[in-house]
Amino acid sequence: MNYIVFDLEWNQAADLKTKRENDLTFEIIEIGAVKLNDKKEQTDSFHELIKPQVFHKMNQVTGELIHLKMEQLEGCRAFPDVAADFVKWCGNDYVFCTWGNLDITELQVNMDYYNMTPVSQKTIRFLDIQKLFSIAFEDKKSRRTLQYAVDFLGIGIEGAFHRAYADAYYTAQVIKNIHDDSVFLNYSFDTYCLPRNKSEEIKVSFGDYSKYISREFPDKIAAMEDKEVLSCKCFLCGKKTKKKIPWFTNNGKNYYTIVSCAQHGALKGKIRLRKSLKHNKTYVVKTMRQAAPDVICDIVNKKKQVRESRKERRKKS
Ligand SMILES: [Zn+2]
Repeated sequence: MNYIVFDLEWNQAADLKTKRENDLTFEIIEIGAVKLNDKKEQTDSFHELIKPQVFHKMNQVTGELIHLKMEQLEGCRAFPDVAADFVKWCGNDYVFCTWGNLDITELQVNMDYYNMTPVSQKTIRFLDIQKLFSIAFEDKKSRRTLQYAVDFLGIGIEGAFHRAYADAYYTAQVIKNIHDDSVFLNYSFDTYCLPRNKSEEIKVSFGDYSKYISREFPDKIAAMEDKEVLSCKCFLCGKKTKKKIPWFTNNGKNYYTIVSCAQHGALKGKIRLRKSLKHNKTYVVKTMRQAAPDVICDIVNKKKQVRESRKERRKKS
């Protein structure tokens, strides 16, 4: 299996009027990529600038960030040709690697805009190297800039940041600096293409927590009535758990629960309700993890606050 480490640069509308007139928010103007084999050795590279079809003026902020002028894109090929070649170049057996979680969505959005054959019909599993850097070298939660990671690891500077090929190259160097193979088990999922049915739903365990990504539901009510969404089996042993604090919400978007496994003790469940980008429908991301006493305390307090603000509202009305 190859690692396709890629980075995109995109432009956006230069003014509000242009923004309102166009369906596309970000137009890709550069693709840069590095191919690593299963030993993480570089075997190939891909780089091409793209002639824009939607935004013909460079957004000021974008232009300053990526140091690209419209004139440089004259004479380049259009997105569908470049993207088709890029997808072909990727081959068949690969995993996408990106710095952060935006690029795979934007690649798919732009390909859809031109009615191209999708990279995948299914939810794409990928490696977010920004996240892996944090897992390998920091606290798992922080999200650093690529430049920070390059400085931290003492990687030699080969070209300006915020250009697609240089950023793909630096991201590949960060990958080469992660020597603990278990770090690469921490996959991410790009939710532009969501599970199309129950059997495609994502259920994965990462050792200390589990993640579930649902199919799309017409609305929040339908999602929060679904058996699988509400299910709280222990992710460590698969057995049924006892409810301690049933699912509740403090803002209508996030739901929390505390359950108890006979073998593994207290577990915290969290549901995030999200809107799908493609169809504007509701889907659910649920995580389960073991809950230390302070975490339980935090959930109990959240629940108390909900109860109290409900009482307040009742008094007022
Ligand atoms: Zn258990």
